[in-house]
Amino acid sequence: MTLAARLSAIDERIADAARLAGREPGEITRIVVTKFHPAQLVRDLHALGVTDIGENRQQELTAKRAELHDVPLRWHFIGQAQTNKAAAIRRASDVVHSIDRVKLADALHRAAVDDHALDVLVQVNLTEDPGRGGSTLSDAEALAEHVLGLDSLRLRGVMAVAPLDEEPASAFARLRAVADRIRQLAPEADWISAGMTGDFVEAVQAGATHLRIGSAITGPRPVQG
Ligand SMILES: *Cc1c(COP(=O)(O)O)cnc(C)c1O
Repeated sequence: MTLAARLSAIDERIADAARLAGREPGEITRIVVTKFHPAQLVRDLHALGVTDIGENRQQELTAKRAELHDVPLRWHFIGQAQTNKAAAIRRASDVVHSIDRVKLADALHRAAVDDHALDVLVQVNLTEDPGRGGSTLSDAEALAEHVLGLDSLRLRGVMAVAPLDEEPASAFARLRAVADRIRQLAPEADWISAGMTGDFVEAVQAGATHLRIGSAITGPRPVQG
């Protein structure tokens, strides 16, 4: 299958999942995750109408964004972030999905260079494994409140990756519950970033507004260096 065929097949499956869940396909943003793939693939995706690109490593994001400075795209940073990379992440990102601790929020806030507010999501860890990234379910609200106090950051909602050892539907239900609580603090923070190649249908059912889909569209990732 060509890139165009894979992209349109996924978009059809997203639209079907949305309709089955009683939702409008148009309210769902499909982010194509291009990590480990060359910038040319991003250019090809843009030519097919893709507007939103996801990357999980700062250096790769910075390099691709620089190489593709002539291409109008929204860049989503979706990886674990080191605090000392906050300025570089802020420079290269339109949206940061992975705010998982107060220190990172503060570092991104301090890295602001103008009045433009950076869109951010609080990442929630749906597993018991602290190494998987994200704040605990119980800390997520306090972290969201902290972000709301930083005027250079604009809280848009929550993000999570489903655990490997659990049905995605039950994990996404926990995410949905925390998303609903955060929306009571900040009604405009209504994004839910969830759903990858293996579980985007369940994510749409759980109310995801932003899907992060990689390999089903790009094909297998090149071996990482
Ligand atoms: C790589 C990645 C994805 C996309 O994964 P696929 O299974 O290839 O769709 C989504 N979210 C995050 C955080 C990732 O790192």
